[in-house]
Amino acid sequence: MINIYDLTLDDLKEYMKDAGEPKYRAEQLYRHIYEDVAIEDMTDISKTLRGKLSDDFYVFLPQIEKKLISKIDGTVKYLFKMRDGEYAESVVMKYKHGLSICVSSQVGCAMGCAFCASTLHGLKRNLTPGEISGQIIAAKKDLGQRISNIVMMGSGEPFQNTENVFAFLENAVNPHGLGIGARHITVSTCGILEGIRALSDLGYPINLSVSLHAPNDEIRKKLMPIAKSVSIDKLIDGCRAFFKKTGRRVTYEYALAEGVNDSEENAKELSDRLKNDGSHINLIPVNYVKERGIKRSNSVLKFKNVLEKNGINATVRREMGSDINAACGQLRNENLER
Ligand code: SAH
Repeated sequence: MINIYDLTLDDLKEYMKDAGEPKYRAEQLYRHIYEDVAIEDMTDISKTLRGKLSDDFYVFLPQIEKKLISKIDGTVKYLFKMRDGEYAESVVMKYKHGLSICVSSQVGCAMGCAFCASTLHGLKRNLTPGEISGQIIAAKKDLGQRISNIVMMGSGEPFQNTENVFAFLENAVNPHGLGIGARHITVSTCGILEGIRALSDLGYPINLSVSLHAPNDEIRKKLMPIAKSVSIDKLIDGCRAFFKKTGRRVTYEYALAEGVNDSEENAKELSDRLKNDGSHINLIPVNYVKERGIKRSNSVLKFKNVLEKNGINATVRREMGSDINAACGQLRNENLER
């Protein structure tokens, strides 16, 4: 048995072909799934076929295990329970332009970044396409509101789960699937070059965000194990190639940690590397995770000024849901530890 949300429209077409059904049945079924019609209620599909569908598929949405709402800004954090009892977190943020959801791509994470809570207990498993879109569908159902933006910045490294993430993206951009425009979707990676290349080959104008967090390899290696195999030069080259192919500018994420990567000298070095790139830097004061002990920087604005003086576009990420531990991985860890 397969979760019907794990399949793309192409998968369903293949299925219908094997079942000796016309192709348009796949489109019919696909629309019904995302309109939340139960298989037994799909009355424009024959009873026999409905019977077969019910034998072959189940319809699963992540269950809300815990829901926290920020009193400060209305940010909602969900701890979702999957069918096998594993947990994944999502966060819904309210912006002027609508609701944005941050989803997880894996249960836990194997990347080992020094400041991150998601990786503390290692990688448990990949999330399936339907478990990723399910976070969005379940949140939308719970809130009774449209969600207009998706960021893959929850737990996990999307490009260590590329096949499932790409199937999810197909369903996200399909107008009869989640129907969210590619320009409203951002995938964030710690810097896996094959994944960046594959995303540009996918052909959708999806946004790419890259977690840089350091101006040079020496500092980056202290924070991110991936830096031992991918140098900053190679990574920036990969991002330039992505921009060339897709026309989408890359955003670099830079989490500022006190005394680690937040000096004016660091800002200058970073500016020199990214000069004339037209790229954008998103500065994030490190979210303190007690097990990791890396402190947030007090020099965020100073750092930003140096970047701007050197012609680099920078913004400070607005912090949301600071009263509900909105940093990725924190809820699942609390739950594991209990
Ligand atoms: N694996 C992907 C996506 C998940 S993390 C990636 O590395 O990009 C989403 C973003 O949050 C990344 O930029 C990550 O480095 C950052 N992040 C993780 N823990 C953090 C913390 N404690 N404080 C600030 N940013 C953090």
